[in-house]
Amino acid sequence: MITIALSKGRIFEETLPLLQAAGIRPTEDPEPSRKLILSTNRPDVRLIIVRASDVPTYVQYGAADLGIAGKDVLDEHGGIGLYQPLDLNIARCRMMVAVRNEFDYDSAVRQGARLRVATKYVQTAREHFAAKGVHVDLIKLYGSMELAPLVGLSDAIVDLVSSGNTLKANHLKAVENISAISSRLVVNQASLKLKHSTIQPMLDIFSKAVTQ
Ligand code: ATP
Ligand code: MG
Repeated sequence: MITIALSKGRIFEETLPLLQAAGIRPTEDPEPSRKLILSTNRPDVRLIIVRASDVPTYVQYGAADLGIAGKDVLDEHGGIGLYQPLDLNIARCRMMVAVRNEFDYDSAVRQGARLRVATKYVQTAREHFAAKGVHVDLIKLYGSMELAPLVGLSDAIVDLVSSGNTLKANHLKAVENISAISSRLVVNQASLKLKHSTIQPMLDIFSKAVTQ
């Protein structure tokens, strides 16, 4: 049995065509269903539905053989025990620093001010500001980061941006681009050895199906 860990929503939607290319079709739609384990047309393949940020953990411990997770999530997790053979080029966006429209980020940085930064991506933010030599106090949030600068919780946020519409709607501006984000296939290293004859052909098909 091969178990693939996925999150609902955008990753699930954008992964369906790749699964389809490998001849894998879920027998149910996870959105209306409350089931966390979905069978597929292939008796040897099942999908498990987990929080996006939990995908690397399921794969690391071998509870799933394969998983699909954003680079944002993988960077925070650290990637221990995970083989990352393939960038699937889906769920693309950018990790950025953003502040209120009125906030003069460049001069705050130039003057060596200590910045308060709210984010779900504490590891990523810590590394980014350390590399720039900017002193920050990090405030961990679990969502709706855009609110933090508006109500005085922080000077800046580190968050994913795609169109920029959410920033704009909240009177925020992006001031730094940290990295390009897309979703990656991750594989449990032991599974890859023990189930090589099943997993390797799947990897080959996924890699051909990825659109550049
Ligand atoms: P949860 O909703 O459970 O708190 P989440 O917000 O991380 O988790 P999603 O919004 O489904 O879950 O995001 C899943 C992944 O999709 C993210 O880890 C990221 O890689 C990518 N992603 C997030 N926002 C965007 C976006 N606006 N455009 C493109 N890709 C995105
Ligand atoms: Mg979300």
